[in-house]
Amino acid sequence: MRDAGYQKGGNLLEFSKRFQDEDACRRHLFNRRWPNGFACPRCGGVEYYHISTRDLYECAYCRHQASLTAGTVMEKTRTPLRVWFFLIFLMANQKTGLSVLGASRMLGIPYDRAWRICHKIRGAMGQRDASYRLAGLIEMDDSYFGAKKSGKRGRGAEGKRPVMVGVSFDENGPLHAFMKVIETVDGDTIEKTAEENIEADSGVKTDGLGAYLAGLGAYHHESIVIKDPKTASRKLPWVHILIANAKSTIRGAHHGVSPTHLQDYLSEFCWRFSRRRFGPELFDRLLWTCIVASPVST
Ligand SMILES: [Zn+2]
Repeated sequence: MRDAGYQKGGNLLEFSKRFQDEDACRRHLFNRRWPNGFACPRCGGVEYYHISTRDLYECAYCRHQASLTAGTVMEKTRTPLRVWFFLIFLMANQKTGLSVLGASRMLGIPYDRAWRICHKIRGAMGQRDASYRLAGLIEMDDSYFGAKKSGKRGRGAEGKRPVMVGVSFDENGPLHAFMKVIETVDGDTIEKTAEENIEADSGVKTDGLGAYLAGLGAYHHESIVIKDPKTASRKLPWVHILIANAKSTIRGAHHGVSPTHLQDYLSEFCWRFSRRRFGPELFDRLLWTCIVASPVST
């Protein structure tokens, strides 16, 4: 019998069997990082010696010593790769966001360490998505995130940070998303945010706020005048669902986040959202994201 929730490679028991020790993790990371075999980062040489005592790969030509994690977000880590692998697995697969406290208890590591690793993985997610721009049809809106105290809702609420949100969609629903913490909702900021996150020639739908008219001159822009705020979620449905889900993730798994880290949590949310259909591939996608990202400071 097939269980609806079952995905090969996507369950924790299989995962822990597959990566049962450091060697298994190291082999997998090696194969992902150097899929065509080791290549010296300095001279490109492919022959190497493995110095197992220090876990370094020494180039047979130029003697450069490379570590498996140098240049990735895992650089200089003193945490076993297995812990990294489990956190990457959990972060990639936990649709409602991974609680750092919960993860530190599950893996038996101190909260601070779990927090630092999750922070680095989040940083990698942000870096990865900064290299993409949305294309096609896009809904765009702004929202306010992050205040613990309750204030008035909507634009201009006290103590909240404005966030620009965009989501591409087609006839089957939403595709990819970005969320960017901004200083203020004005034409210049909208123009700059759109330029960084949306391909030229895309079609952008927004509500009737004048700043969008000013900021989206370069796009095929459709401004929808929303007289009754209650109908906004019908006229720009995807962007509103996305905002509601991001807020509930931040409230639920993370119990609210400080303004300093808000962008990281939004990047994490968008990374996962844009890849939600990858199922069992998610772990390797996030591992790759961590390999290609530059080191993140904490
Ligand atoms: Zn070399």
